[in-house]
Amino acid sequence: MNYQKPKGTRDLLPADTRVWQFLEDTGRKIAGLYNYREIRTPTFEDVALYKRSVGDTSDIVSKEMYEFIDKGERHLALRPEGTAGVVRAVVENGMLNEALPQKLYYFSNCFRYENTQKGRYREFNQFGLECFGASNPEADAELIVLISNFLHALGIKDYNLLLNSIGCPECRAKYNVALREFASAHLDSLCGDCKRRANENPLRMLDCKVESCQNILKDAHSILDYLCDECRAHFEELQRLLNEQGVGFTVTPRLVRGLDYYTKTVFEFEHDGFDGKKLTIAAGGRYDNLVAEIGGKPCPALGVGIGLDRVVHLVDQSLVPNTPLYYIANTTEDVLPFVFELAKEYRNAGYSVETNLTARSFKAQMKYANTIGAKYLIVIGENEAKTREWQIKDLETGEILSSTANFKNL
Ligand code: ATP
Ligand code: MG
Repeated sequence: MNYQKPKGTRDLLPADTRVWQFLEDTGRKIAGLYNYREIRTPTFEDVALYKRSVGDTSDIVSKEMYEFIDKGERHLALRPEGTAGVVRAVVENGMLNEALPQKLYYFSNCFRYENTQKGRYREFNQFGLECFGASNPEADAELIVLISNFLHALGIKDYNLLLNSIGCPECRAKYNVALREFASAHLDSLCGDCKRRANENPLRMLDCKVESCQNILKDAHSILDYLCDECRAHFEELQRLLNEQGVGFTVTPRLVRGLDYYTKTVFEFEHDGFDGKKLTIAAGGRYDNLVAEIGGKPCPALGVGIGLDRVVHLVDQSLVPNTPLYYIANTTEDVLPFVFELAKEYRNAGYSVETNLTARSFKAQMKYANTIGAKYLIVIGENEAKTREWQIKDLETGEILSSTANFKNL
């Protein structure tokens, strides 16, 4: 029997994890610069948490969740996104009683039963950031600048920032009425999902991926015409702050998010893609009512989910650090004790070292050192073992870097 990984999952092999480590290191570093601190929450939660926060009628809850009943009859779901669990943890651990804002980040694997295709998997990874307790547009601007800096640090340039405001429940209620009216005039031409959305959650129609729906809905009213004074002022100030900081964006009134909990600011970083197909690499926004919605005291908040499985393909490879590897070869078996002593000292000094663990001949060792991409070669023969001095050769240039290296100048 040959086993295969489940559909929509991937094995990340060492050639891949090198880039993933760079992504994660860069993310942690930049999050830290803005005083975001790491949080780790469970991989599964009570299914009711997602229904409440992400929304019953969202694609995620209605068709994409991995749900199961455990042996204690608990109804659980694998995390389909990161925000709900973090909000639950922040409330449960009383973190909103501490000094605010409270800024948290995470690297989480997420699970959705999706139609798999390039950049869309059933297990995928988000770098998420959430900020609790700041209602001002300065917080929105800071988060967006942080993401731009993250992408910049990875050498990613070909993207657009799409920006919108979907208002508060009051302005949205008025807009929903208008949108429902618009939809009822075109109901026959809309897809099945949109027919349902027109009733349940009209805003969601704007997010429909079916082209014919998009063509119809492009003539619908713009939410920006329905914003109340407060939401409008917030959105205008955010745009001013981004302009001031030199962050380019495109106001996109059709932009809504697939999740129910957003208020005011929503945004997406959209990459130009490989084959002209645009790819959303990060998406987020403000969710001022979610904390209270799941039982915390009212607390404005905002966050982003960065889709690392898409970002990882866009990283400028020349920026990924390559730890140089030393290969210490032995010409005879007798010198192995010295080789291992040397390897130990090099490792203590912080260098990566490989030695001859499988009794290869000298010739086979040279071939092996090349195959594994060793950058430096040290050859230990009887003479080197006796004098306790050795040569270091750069395998890429062929140059001898040191002809009398010893333990003192290691
Ligand atoms: P879409 O409309 O493309 O389905 P979404 O609204 O479901 O996206 P979010 O829930 O906002 O996406 O997730 C944030 C980011 O996580 C996305 O912008 C994307 O980069 C990434 N993402 C979402 N679903 C997947 C997936 N199945 N595989 C890989 N990455 C994903
Ligand atoms: Mg989706």
